[in-house]
Amino acid sequence: MSKSNHIIIAIDGPSGTGKSTTAKLMGERLGLPYLDTGAMYRAVTWACQNEGIPYSAESDVVELAGRIQISFSDDGLMIDGIVRESEIRTPRVSNEVSHYCKLPEVRSLMTEQQRHIGNQKGCVLDGRDIGTVVFPQADYKFFLVTDVDVRSKRRHAELLSKGEQVSFEEVRENLLERDRLDSSRATAPLVKAEDAELVDTTKFNIEQQVEHILKIMGVVVTS
Ligand code: C5P
Repeated sequence: MSKSNHIIIAIDGPSGTGKSTTAKLMGERLGLPYLDTGAMYRAVTWACQNEGIPYSAESDVVELAGRIQISFSDDGLMIDGIVRESEIRTPRVSNEVSHYCKLPEVRSLMTEQQRHIGNQKGCVLDGRDIGTVVFPQADYKFFLVTDVDVRSKRRHAELLSKGEQVSFEEVRENLLERDRLDSSRATAPLVKAEDAELVDTTKFNIEQQVEHILKIMGVVVTS
């Protein structure tokens, strides 16, 4: 059990493995809040791009990351009280987020907020370093993997449905590049926690993915 006696479930893995949708549905099924930690790093990235701060201007990035107020509403992520859910999901943000989020000071600012949110009522969190760094004492840890063509296809369809003009190749390249940068950074790299359960979601749809994980947790699934 985590420090606060609330249940913490960590869902980590590479980009586009369905972590967010899975974590959200699990939260609904288990009556736990859900936290999309990637959205927080996307928020920092969007805010910096919006103010013209490149990721190379490290102290400005850290200063902005500490100044903006990130919160969540029913309409999605908010920055300083304004919903920015669609802004943080654009290819422009996806292309640069791994550069902004590798700064140790940015990570510790976000990690602190993630722990604070998680410890309030328990939580299902999805990200890259939840089981290794944010909540190494999580009650349950899962590491999701999916064939790269399958996840690129899913992400491509999702972006097209939102009206983004982006090719399959661009989406595939972005997923691979983010995985490469996320896995190779010095601070909190994307890596499976030793005690995390590996789940290959290639052949699952989201419902099957959730049921599979709940079954591993020993939760009786009634449909
Ligand atoms: O989950 P999502 O793909 O939206 O995350 C966007 C990016 O944020 C990732 O590619 C990764 O660079 C970063 N991230 C991270 N640590 C987390 C969650 C996301 O570094 N816990």
